[in-house]
Amino acid sequence: MHIRKQRLLTPGPTPLYPPALQAMMASDLHHRTEDFRKLYRSTLSSLKEVMGTENDVLILVSSGTGAMESSASNFFSKGDKVIVCSAGKFGERWGEIAKAYGLNATILKAEYGQVVPPEQVQAALDAEPATRGVFVQASETSTGAAHDVRSMASIVSKTDALFVVDAITGLGTMPLDIDGWGMDIVIGGSQKAFMIPPGLAFLSISKKAWARAESADLPHYYFDLTKEKKNAGSGESSWTPNTSLILALNAALEYIKSVGMDKLVENAQLLARGTREAVMALGLDLFAPGSPGSSVTSVRAPKNLDSGVIVKEFRNRFNSIIANGQGSMKGKIFRIAHLGYFDFADLFAVISELEIILNANGFPVEFGKGVAAVQKVYAESAVGNQEAVKV
Ligand SMILES: *Cc1c(COP(=O)(O)O)cnc(C)c1O
Repeated sequence: MHIRKQRLLTPGPTPLYPPALQAMMASDLHHRTEDFRKLYRSTLSSLKEVMGTENDVLILVSSGTGAMESSASNFFSKGDKVIVCSAGKFGERWGEIAKAYGLNATILKAEYGQVVPPEQVQAALDAEPATRGVFVQASETSTGAAHDVRSMASIVSKTDALFVVDAITGLGTMPLDIDGWGMDIVIGGSQKAFMIPPGLAFLSISKKAWARAESADLPHYYFDLTKEKKNAGSGESSWTPNTSLILALNAALEYIKSVGMDKLVENAQLLARGTREAVMALGLDLFAPGSPGSSVTSVRAPKNLDSGVIVKEFRNRFNSIIANGQGSMKGKIFRIAHLGYFDFADLFAVISELEIILNANGFPVEFGKGVAAVQKVYAESAVGNQEAVKV
């Protein structure tokens, strides 16, 4: 037998930052005390710094979807006309939330693996000037594609519509200039590039969005963002917070600040490039070659090989957990994540595992060919750094 360490290589949950886990041991803390208020204020202030915005930033006790739902229920009114950019399972979630709250949504649909072009958003806004909001994913984790939210922001910010960005896997994997580009609501989640377990969601909220909240009439109670903002102002959360995760988040944010958010993004981008070059060197096709994001790389399984077999092989042979496709993409693609606490050594491992698995399943590849492609990306990126190597 071999020892098989578990490696979590999915786009949420992601590998955990060990000092953040250790910080969770201080959880015997009451949330209506000065000790907690100090922690909460520091965490909110770090989060704001890492997100790089002057807008208000709030933390919610929920997975990312709770923050998505709250962005509909707090800033819109029944029957509001909105545009939903839908390029995958998470875009479809925006559509479902809009429907649940009685918003009048125009869905701009892209095929899985493609994205909605900004021009289409422009055309839809021109066709319906009364549009109150535009919803999109910065990074569509189900397909691995990334939207051009910068161009979209420049279009939407010229209108009365709020630009609502699910950046749950966008934060920490792509540049997102919230204030400079004019993104009204930007949503994040703890189990993605923030390197801690699931259970917290974040939002940044612009002045334009707060002004809208005053007249918005959709019902909400637990996710009352105006109330949450007021309480955050005095260092508290509206309801009992997930204290252990706040401790973890505070520690992870200290680390992200020390690395630099731009470096965290660059790390994800480099690993994404290494992954793409490796799988292409092995003769596999990318699922979203036109607009690949850096949170996760979706790869088409070879003909006649179910991607579920590859996922299972990763788990059985190496205890490595990678993601299958979702919905109709299940069995067709597999997804390798590289957001948050991932490094080159993780990628060397996952690509060499992939080579073994392909060989064992009737798709012969030369050992080391994919790994060499990653090593080349490492060597090129290290030029000028102290760890520069020649290969
Ligand atoms: C993970 C993720 C979500 C949120 O999912 P939860 O399970 O609610 O945390 C939403 N959008 C995207 C793009 C995601 O990757």
